[in-house]
Amino acid sequence: MRFLHVDPVSIAREACIDALTGFADASRELASSEWHSVLSAVYHNARACTEGNNIEPWNCRPGRVDRRMCGRCAELGR
Ligand SMILES: [Zn+2]
Repeated sequence: MRFLHVDPVSIAREACIDALTGFADASRELASSEWHSVLSAVYHNARACTEGNNIEPWNCRPGRVDRRMCGRCAELGR
């Protein structure tokens, strides 16, 4: 995949979402709505989720990949 084409040193944590939208052309449905950290057992789908927004861009991946939904995202999605 070619979704992290940005410089991880120079980007802020918001860049995780920016990166997700940036590669949305490759896997649009998944990337635009769900993402996860390679270090976490949960996935996120709420842009307002502080935990999801705090994922370092270099640890951020699109989709859920067999993870369970983040508790905060579940509350935000209600
Ligand atoms: Zn979340």
